Amino acid sequence: MQGQLISLQNDPVTPSRHLPLSISRCPFIAKPLFLRCMKQLATINHFFWKYRYRFFLGIIFVILTNYFRILAPQLTGYVVNTVVGNLQPGAGHQRQNDVLVEKIINLLDNHTMGEKVLWCSVTLLVLALVSGFFMFMMRQTIIVMSRLIEYDQKNQVFTHYQRLDSNFYKTHSTGDLMNRISEDVSRVRMYTGPAIMYFINLAAVLGFSIFFMYKASPRLTLVALSPLPILAITIYFVNTIINKKSERIQALLSQLTTNAQESYSGIRVIKSFVQEKAMLGFFTANSDEYKKNALGLAKTEAIYFPSMALLIGISTLFTIMVGALDVVNKVPGAEVGKIVEFVMYIQLLTFPVSAIGWTASMTQRAAASQKRINEFLLAKPTISNPPERLRPSLSSDIVLEKVDFTYSHTGIRAIKNFSLRIRKGEKIAIVGKTGSGKSTIAQLLLRMYDPQQGSIQYDSVSITKIDLDYLREGVSYVPQDVFLFSDTVYNNIAFGLPGAAKEQVVKAAIDACVDKEINGFTEGYNTMIGERGVTLSGGQKQRISIARALIKNPAVVIFDDCLSAVDAKTEKEILSNLNNYLEDKTAIIITHRIFSLLSFDKIIVIEDGAIAEQGTHESLLQQNGYYAEMYNRQQRQERETGPDAVEFSS
Ligand code: ADP
Ligand code: MG
Repeated sequence: MQGQLISLQNDPVTPSRHLPLSISRCPFIAKPLFLRCMKQLATINHFFWKYRYRFFLGIIFVILTNYFRILAPQLTGYVVNTVVGNLQPGAGHQRQNDVLVEKIINLLDNHTMGEKVLWCSVTLLVLALVSGFFMFMMRQTIIVMSRLIEYDQKNQVFTHYQRLDSNFYKTHSTGDLMNRISEDVSRVRMYTGPAIMYFINLAAVLGFSIFFMYKASPRLTLVALSPLPILAITIYFVNTIINKKSERIQALLSQLTTNAQESYSGIRVIKSFVQEKAMLGFFTANSDEYKKNALGLAKTEAIYFPSMALLIGISTLFTIMVGALDVVNKVPGAEVGKIVEFVMYIQLLTFPVSAIGWTASMTQRAAASQKRINEFLLAKPTISNPPERLRPSLSSDIVLEKVDFTYSHTGIRAIKNFSLRIRKGEKIAIVGKTGSGKSTIAQLLLRMYDPQQGSIQYDSVSITKIDLDYLREGVSYVPQDVFLFSDTVYNNIAFGLPGAAKEQVVKAAIDACVDKEINGFTEGYNTMIGERGVTLSGGQKQRISIARALIKNPAVVIFDDCLSAVDAKTEKEILSNLNNYLEDKTAIIITHRIFSLLSFDKIIVIEDGAIAEQGTHESLLQQNGYYAEMYNRQQRQERETGPDAVEFSS
């Protein structure tokens, strides 16, 4: 019995610490809750169908492993009866067993007692091995199936994430997204694998043992099973307590992790403000609370197993008492072997029954997780590929007509009645203060959002009818906030053009004026970027990001303030390189600094989401308005402080 309980703790898929983690209400009592669980989990039934053969085989293996296990008590009972019969003639074996056991017994009929005992022991060993083999196969099918489903589900969620648009990402935190694809999917796996396996196992053990127990002695069966209801109720109550405690612990743990994580990533700030002591204080307070709760849980769990053992012990005791009294009183059919047999059945039942609570909790947790996953899977991207999937020429005129755009989740009206025609091959500059709506224009041109009013057209075709991939491949965008992957410099640049040749990568780096610095790194283009790689300066990051855009040969280029962290000399160099590169392309350069080097066909000054002024550099200077004022100020500042400190406006 002890061994069985310990095997529950050591079971590799049964995290004993979290044993009956979450069963806030017993699913067997609260039927609607149970049904609700099943409704959520029904959405993954197609995965079971996909792996139906494996699943079916798994069920067969569960039945087989239990069948071979259930034969042991009968055979042991026979051995005991044989020995007892030898000592007390007339008390021998006289009962119908399982067919297989009967065959073995018949084979041994004419042997001596010693041989019978020996052969039965050998058979018991073989039975254990066969049962063990099927148990291995059962795990190999059902647990492997759950891993395959987990893999499919992760891919399903990831594929869906990729289809969702910026709106979705703005309203859900990265942590939330990560949780649903990792933690929640893992929790669902606890249902598709272990929980289902234990459930089938329980059904098989209960079925087999009650069948054979009843066949052997209905009276003893009643006696042996009488503590079962109390056992079930105890499991339920202890489970509820453990569940509450573990949930609290989980919350504390995630708080602790967040705290620790922030203090690692913010270590520079913490050190420079000499706040190590305060941080340590926070952390200690947090982990004290965690410790207190964890110890409380350990105490409850410590009660759980002994109380189970007590009930099982009572059941064993009753069985032995009643069985022995029957033998002493010579009740017809009573045998010493039966007592042994029943004690073994009780042992066999211990583990599956004690796992009921765990199985129910896992199922409930899985349902809660699946509900969260379903929420995301049901989220529809507001921007998706149109049925027309038109592919107009992107290098023709781009027209924005009376565009009005409000960020729906904040209600900020970022673009107001904005009309602009960008002719084929034109170089346009968009200037304006921070927050005036420049980046939003870029987002709209890439159809990251759809305007609420007005229209955007490429070559007289509405952007809403253009194939999305075609559009985004044809319009190269260098974002304002650089994002580089934790990968090599090479791969970060080649990301813009999958399968790019080395020369193309180097050429792009040269055009973006970052080639020299890359060659200066110890491993050149194979240097890792990111947390565990080199730390790049803001300007270097921007230039690698530019190289990534330059490597492809798009029809339209949008640079969103991507030279802000580059010094004036490098900026000039990049711009003169760009002159060549941009020759046959439409270019939109967003900036809050004026580049005198690039000659723009048109300069647009945006203020508060609307066009305030537009024209060429000269005409705008003549207008003597906003642009002229900014330009003059920039000139003045450049003379006073040097070009590096100058910004258009802020
Ligand atoms: P700029 O690029 O000129 O600095 P933006 O286009 O980024 O300006 O921003 C225009 C306005 O829209 C600002 O008021 C800004 O706060 C708001 N805004 C920008 N991006 C978002 C967003 N993703 N969600 C909500 N509001 C935004
Ligand atoms: Mg911006």
